[in-house]
Amino acid sequence: MTQLLREIFNHDFAKTADNAEFLAIFFAKTLTLPDLRKVSAHICASSYQLDGKTIPAALLIKGKTSQPPLVILAQLHGNEPAGLAGILLAMALSEAGLLQNDIIAAIGNPLAATQYFEALAHSPHARQETRDAFRCGLSDSGALLPDMNRIPVDFLTRPATDHHTLRARELYALGLRAQGILDIHSARGNMLCITDHKHDAELKASPIRALLTHLAEAIAAHASATVSVQTLKTILHPLPNIKYQVGIEAGRHEDPAAPYNAASFTLAFLHTNGWTPLAPRNANDSNRFDGYEVKPRITYADLDYGDTLTAQDMVYMARPCQSVASVPNRSDTVIVKQDGHYVLQSLADFTHKPLGAMEYAIYQYDEMEPIESGQTVAVAVPSGTTFRTRSGFSGIFLSKSAALYDKDPAVGPWPVAADKIGNVKFCYPCLVGTVQLDF
Ligand SMILES: [Zn+2]
Repeated sequence: MTQLLREIFNHDFAKTADNAEFLAIFFAKTLTLPDLRKVSAHICASSYQLDGKTIPAALLIKGKTSQPPLVILAQLHGNEPAGLAGILLAMALSEAGLLQNDIIAAIGNPLAATQYFEALAHSPHARQETRDAFRCGLSDSGALLPDMNRIPVDFLTRPATDHHTLRARELYALGLRAQGILDIHSARGNMLCITDHKHDAELKASPIRALLTHLAEAIAAHASATVSVQTLKTILHPLPNIKYQVGIEAGRHEDPAAPYNAASFTLAFLHTNGWTPLAPRNANDSNRFDGYEVKPRITYADLDYGDTLTAQDMVYMARPCQSVASVPNRSDTVIVKQDGHYVLQSLADFTHKPLGAMEYAIYQYDEMEPIESGQTVAVAVPSGTTFRTRSGFSGIFLSKSAALYDKDPAVGPWPVAADKIGNVKFCYPCLVGTVQLDF
């Protein structure tokens, strides 16, 4: 651990002069994906002894006292490296003598995590979507493995021969021993929020100010009556020994700011709950958060689209746009009106020789992006039928371009065929307001 910290920071945290120096050195460093790979590999190569049982891919980070530990969980989804920065912070605090109690660092899905970093090393410049399959990992035959955050309800009693069930049992064993869990995720889009927490007081001083509420209920709303899988947090939440439990989304998977967000939140969480005397910089002591009340998912058919849709239509996520100058940065294709119907044209071709008048740009709405009531968010080609919101919201888990996500139908891939609009998710809309927590 000492060696790892030296390699990454070129600094010996054991010789840190004071708290200000610790903060300056730790947070001045922009953690790269190769840095985080080293952290992941270090934990994957470690194990934790628990009642005579060996838990692989888990590392004890020593605090001054050995009260029941706090677990920091990273890479429950393999392609979500930001949580490793939270673990690295705990390591540095331990080295500097600033960690009060023990922490166990755990890699949620070591198989997927290892595959993810191998894929990254192999093609470091390929966009993050090409690594989406490593959310869960791939089998030897290239099939998508089960999601480590979808645990069968009978995971403790079923025959456990597969990686998925065995790891669920190991994480559960850690949960039985812990006082608290910090579960750090990242997202396909720009999503920085607290997804769940057990007690309001855990969020004191949180640098992340967006708080999802009713997420579990919103997801359950369309689940079948016989629930066969649970998330890890649902399994751990009722345990009486778990005093603290928080889950966060630290931003877009490979955004350079995501590790910083994860480490900043981890510091606030550790300080608030007595794990370190080191106070975060710029601690926000307000109990007012931006609340995102999550509603059950809506499909494309839940949008307002009139009666002009035709059988051959394909529905694209889009926004109104009439000129090249106003095409959003992230768009490379526009929808133009040609002889009374609509066609797609690349922006480059349109600039060179337009096929007609530009009316829309193909546009991927981002996570938590505010969308107004009546806003056109999708357009059918060739009929030009518009899909408009019935009320304003900010969406999460938005429908994603099928061109980027070809393996996971759960993303709600667009374009959507006319006869599928009632089946494909558009998003989980959130109503945004202020929530006051009870500190
Ligand atoms: Zn995740």
